[in-house]
Amino acid sequence: MIKDLWYKNAVVYCLSVETFMDSNGDGCGDFEGLTRRLDYLHGLGVTTIWLMPFQTSPGRDDGYDVSDYYNVDARYGTLGDFVEFTHAAQQRGMRVLIDLVVNHTSDQHPWFQAARKDRDSPYRDWYVWADKKPANAGEGMVFPGVQKSTWSFDKVAKRWYFHRFYDFQPDLNTSHPRVQAEILKIMGFWTQLGVSGFRMDAVPFVISTKGADVTRPVPQYDMLREFRELLQWRQGQAIILGEANVQPRTNMQYFGDEGERIHMMFNFHVNQHLFYALASGDSRPLAKALEATRPRPATSQWGLFLRNHDELDLGRLTSAQRERVFAAFAPDKDMQLYDRGIRRRLAPMLGSDRRRLELAYSLLLTLPGTPVLRYGDEIGMGDDLSLPERNCSRTPMQWSTEPHGGFTAAEKPVRPVISGGAYGFEHVNVAAQRRDPDSLLNWTERALRMRQEIPEVSWGDFEMLPQPCQSVLVMSYAWRNNVVLFVHNLVADPLEIELAASAIGAGGEQLTNLLSEDHSEAGANGRHCILLEPYGYRWFRVGGLDYLLKRSDV
Ligand code: MG
Repeated sequence: MIKDLWYKNAVVYCLSVETFMDSNGDGCGDFEGLTRRLDYLHGLGVTTIWLMPFQTSPGRDDGYDVSDYYNVDARYGTLGDFVEFTHAAQQRGMRVLIDLVVNHTSDQHPWFQAARKDRDSPYRDWYVWADKKPANAGEGMVFPGVQKSTWSFDKVAKRWYFHRFYDFQPDLNTSHPRVQAEILKIMGFWTQLGVSGFRMDAVPFVISTKGADVTRPVPQYDMLREFRELLQWRQGQAIILGEANVQPRTNMQYFGDEGERIHMMFNFHVNQHLFYALASGDSRPLAKALEATRPRPATSQWGLFLRNHDELDLGRLTSAQRERVFAAFAPDKDMQLYDRGIRRRLAPMLGSDRRRLELAYSLLLTLPGTPVLRYGDEIGMGDDLSLPERNCSRTPMQWSTEPHGGFTAAEKPVRPVISGGAYGFEHVNVAAQRRDPDSLLNWTERALRMRQEIPEVSWGDFEMLPQPCQSVLVMSYAWRNNVVLFVHNLVADPLEIELAASAIGAGGEQLTNLLSEDHSEAGANGRHCILLEPYGYRWFRVGGLDYLLKRSDV
C-alpha cells in the first residue's frame, strides 16, 4: 500500500525545541510549549516534525554535543514531557523524527571522561586516539576558519584524540562493535518512546574509517543496512533520513541498490543548484542536477529543502557559480561562513520579495522529493547577523506582537528575538499573518494542502520539457495515468512560453490550474501559450476540471 511509505509524500517541518515556545517563563523553549503549538503545525499542513537535538548537552554546539543519549535536557523538560509530546502529535496524525548525532559525543559525556582517565577502561576504544600528533591534523575540518585542527591533545589521557568537528566533540570509534551496538540501542530507545525515525547527522563521517593511520577514509556503507534492519525489526514504519552531502555518483551507495540502506537523504546537490538558479535565472544547471540525482530505488526518497539550520553550503558549485550566488544573496563577507556558504535565512536572501519567496517555495514543493521546511520560513522570518556563526538564523519563533514575540514571558530569552526593522517580531509574526488572508503564512498553508494532493511528485517519474528560454523550467510527472505539469519563471521579466499539447501527452490540450482559475487550453495550432508574470509559476493538472473524479491513486 502506497500510504504505508508515509515518508514519500510527507511535509516535514524542522524546529528546535529551545527556540520554538517557552511554556514556563524561564526564557527557554520546552516540550510543553511545543506541545501547545501542535495545532498550529497541524493546521499549516505539517505531517512530520523533525526535532533538532534535545538530549542532555553542555550546549556548546546547539545540542550537537550530546552528553546523555537517553535523556531530555532539563531545560526542555523531562522524558515524561517528551512522551506527552509524541502522544499529542500522534493524536493529530503527525509523526516525529529526531536528530541522531552519533558521529561524536560531547567531551563531557561519561564515556569520554572514563576513556581519558583510564587506559584500561572499556570506553577507551570507543574513541579514536594517537600517541603522536598525526601528520594530517590540519586537514578535513568541518568548520574551516573557526576550527584549527582535527586532532587535539588531551592532558588527562596524555594522548591525541580525533575530532572531525569542534575539539569538544571527540569522534566515536564507530567501527567498534560495542559502539555500533550502542547506536542501535539509542535508536531502539527512542522508537519505543514514539518516534518514527531519525535524521542521522553527518552520515559520511559516521560510516568512515577513522584513525591516525587513515589517510583516505573509506566509507563502510553496509553499516547503514544494519542500522536500518534494527529499526525495521523494532518498528516497521520508522525511517532514517541521512545528512550526507556527497557526490551524486555515491548516492546509490547510501540508498542501497535494492533500497536496503537508508530510506531518505537530503538532496544537497539539488539544493545548491536551486539557489544558483534563483541567483542567476538560468535553469540549466538545476535541470542537470535533477538528472544527476534521478537514480534511486523505488522505495527511497529525497528530502528537499531550501534553508536549514546550518549554513547554505555551496561547495558543490563551480567557483564562478558560487560567486554568483554570493553576489546575489550574501554580498557582505559577514553573511558568508566557513569559506563555502551563506548563513542567512531565506527571506532576507530574497529581499523579502513575495514573488521570489513564492517561486522558491513553489520549486521546493514541486521538485522530486519530500519537502522539508524550516520553522519561521512560513512567515518570512529574518536573521540576526550580530549572533555568531550559524546562530544568526536560529532565533526564537515570532508568534505575536507581545514582548519577545510571544515566545517567552521571561525578561531574557535564551537567544534574542529579532526586534525592530523589517524582520522584527513587531511586523513579522504568526498572529498578524493568520488574520491576513493574503499573508505568506496563508499562502504556504494553501500550497502545502495542494501539494499533499499531488502524490505524482512523490511517486512519479519526472520529465523535463525542453524550452528555448533558459529562464523557464518546465517539468511534468506521470504516475498511474495522471500527469501534472509545473512551470517556473526564474527571472524578473514577464515571459511568454509556448508548449505543444502533444509534448505534454494524452489530454495535453487542457491544463487545469491547481492554484487559481487561470486554466489553459491549446489553440488551433495545438499549442498552449502561457504568459508568466515576473517570477511566475503554474501548477497544472493535465486534463479537464473533472480530474478529481478520475483519480484512483489513494
Ligand atoms: Mg521553558
